[in-house]
Amino acid sequence: MVPPGGRAAVNGLPLSAGLHVLSHKDEIRLNDGSAIHFSVEVLPQPRPYLGPAAKCGRCHTALEPGCPVVHCSCGVAYHHGSPSCFEYGKQPLCVACRRPTRMDGSGLWRPEEEA
Ligand SMILES: [Zn+2]
Ligand SMILES: [Zn+2]
Repeated sequence: MVPPGGRAAVNGLPLSAGLHVLSHKDEIRLNDGSAIHFSVEVLPQPRPYLGPAAKCGRCHTALEPGCPVVHCSCGVAYHHGSPSCFEYGKQPLCVACRRPTRMDGSGLWRPEEEA
């Protein structure tokens, strides 16, 4: 939403109606030239594992139903706890997509990755 009289552009196109349904990775450029990015991704959150039967991406032992797990944004699940398979090691990376597996969200998509 852009306030009346405000100007903004999404993905380089000026907004006509002041309203645009954002989609993932849209770039929003504001009057002052600054840009913000919209992402549908959320910070990793531990949640009880609900199946289907699968193995942890880190330790390769079974993910028990109901045990706390964290999903990478690519979908691979890791045990969560102490120690956490998700945040295992100093610079944990997802075994599948090589994104940082950190609870602080550093594994989320960032615009500079595609710059
Ligand atoms: Zn594990
Ligand atoms: Zn991943």
